[in-house]
Amino acid sequence: MKFTRLAEYFEKLESETKRNELIQIMSEVFNEALSSEIDKICYLLQGRVVPFFDATEIGMAEKMVEQSVALAYKVDRAVVTQLSAKEGDMGIAASIFNEKAKTREGKISVSEVHSILLKIARTTGEGSVEKKISQLAELLQQVNPAGAKHLVRVPLGLTRLGIGDPTVLDALSTAKNNDKSLRKNLEDAYNKTSDLGFVAKIFWEKGIKAVDLVELQVGKPMRPALAERLPDAEAVVKRMGDSFAVEPKFDGFRCQVHKDGDKIRIFSRNLEDFTNSFPDLVKGGLEEIEAKSVILEGEAIAYNPVSGEFLPFQETTKRRRKYGVDEAAEKMPLKLFCFDLLYLNGKDITKLPYHERRTKLKDIIRDDSSTVMEAIGKIAHSANDLTTQFEEAITEGLEGVMIKKLDSPYQAGARNFNWIKFKRMIGGELSDTVDCVVLGYLFGTGKRTTFGVGGLLVGVYNEKEDTFESISRIGTGLTDEEWRQVKEMADKNKLDHKPARVNSLITPSVWVEPEIVLEIFADEITRSPLHTAGKKGDEPGYALRFPRLVSFRGSSKRAEDATTVKEIEKMYRDQFKHQK
Ligand code: ATP
Repeated sequence: MKFTRLAEYFEKLESETKRNELIQIMSEVFNEALSSEIDKICYLLQGRVVPFFDATEIGMAEKMVEQSVALAYKVDRAVVTQLSAKEGDMGIAASIFNEKAKTREGKISVSEVHSILLKIARTTGEGSVEKKISQLAELLQQVNPAGAKHLVRVPLGLTRLGIGDPTVLDALSTAKNNDKSLRKNLEDAYNKTSDLGFVAKIFWEKGIKAVDLVELQVGKPMRPALAERLPDAEAVVKRMGDSFAVEPKFDGFRCQVHKDGDKIRIFSRNLEDFTNSFPDLVKGGLEEIEAKSVILEGEAIAYNPVSGEFLPFQETTKRRRKYGVDEAAEKMPLKLFCFDLLYLNGKDITKLPYHERRTKLKDIIRDDSSTVMEAIGKIAHSANDLTTQFEEAITEGLEGVMIKKLDSPYQAGARNFNWIKFKRMIGGELSDTVDCVVLGYLFGTGKRTTFGVGGLLVGVYNEKEDTFESISRIGTGLTDEEWRQVKEMADKNKLDHKPARVNSLITPSVWVEPEIVLEIFADEITRSPLHTAGKKGDEPGYALRFPRLVSFRGSSKRAEDATTVKEIEKMYRDQFKHQK
């Protein structure tokens, strides 16, 4: 497929407001492409050249891309800067210059463009800035206006097609089967590898049977298993029976460790490679894990090296940094409490029961490391046992406990009752915060007109439909600084139309591509006809009562990792159990 052809499809996708249409358009793209192009198209749809967990970046800042545009279309750089500022989008500026320069419609293929972008990303060392600029300029000369627009957006990280991974999976299924029936199979393989291109390629080349055989792979992060909530200890016993594991719940950040011989990589909850931030974990025990290849999970938490006390979450997150890593490691060392083992010496062991995986985990972790340790759990047999262990954990300054079913397999990407989280409860209020996605903002009145934002429209995620449904308008509870911050982030993602995956009855002043995740605390969940979260037919949807901002989730959660509609429905039901 020619790249310009793909860019024309991108144009259609960009202006589309209905999710089903997105699926149709993408399935056409897949059917028209060669099988060797399927994986590349999957990455390019997300504005990337490699899967998102791969840290490879094109490495071209805005100024460099501007230079490429100037060079390609023989215009002055200042003119490029001006037009790009006027349009608010360098992609549009590039397409205008391309049009004027009468660049001939190129024959360059998707694979060629992909391989040159990859080459640009891998160009390093002396003279690399000039080389990158000229390579991109050469590419820009071989595409049409739409091609130029979408091409420059890749290095700028500004591809805004508004397509979530489940929608791509639906499109793959539709392309082959004319319906979404294969989504579940594709999703299982995707949950194990987080690599859309890889799964798509297997599907295209070898069919759905090969997709079903995909296993965990060292180097490709799996999507983490997640925990359910239950209202009280009795409810846990009812679910779990008379024997279940209770582990301390550490309030740090989740680490997925991949070890292949000497090579160690650590992925975040959001599957970003943050190995370079934690040399103390690598040196302090991960290197000494007694196995050839491993995938394990643990929670890293910072502590005060003098008193030995654990630091609060806000402090621990300061360790997620690119610079000043060694100093931070000295001031705020980490301990990694390992709680699961998923892969051992070449074998995916996720199907083994929890207790067997834990025995194997114990065997490979050295007893003498005070940095990499096991999260020691105990077996509980009653509500009483559970309450005692929960109170012990709270007394130790922990966040609560995690309850785990002894005979359960590990299900990548699934949230179910194999794990139950039990956190500190704050009198009468919801026991957990809700992670909401910003869908748009409303212009302010009064003092807030100075920030240009007076309220936020936020939503939660419907994982089945891959859509975002509105749940609240937030107008108070943010400091001036937070309003400024949220406006700045929102403006980077603003759109002139409703994003295709958003479902809302309220139209905000400005729509925002669903990307910014906020942690929100609310008094309770109520029903409201104004919101679409969980709304079925004429029934009202769900809404948050007295929402207030707890934190910006930053890059630790993607929009698709926000709280789901299903969870909200459950939290709504659970709050009545509390009140009884
Ligand atoms: P979720 O990860 O379920 O979307 P969240 O990010 O809001 O929710 P929590 O509700 O606090 O996180 O609970 C789950 C998290 O608890 C896990 O993702 C993990 O990082 C952390 N955790 C701490 N201790 C453990 C443990 N022993 N076993 C499993 N997870 C643990």
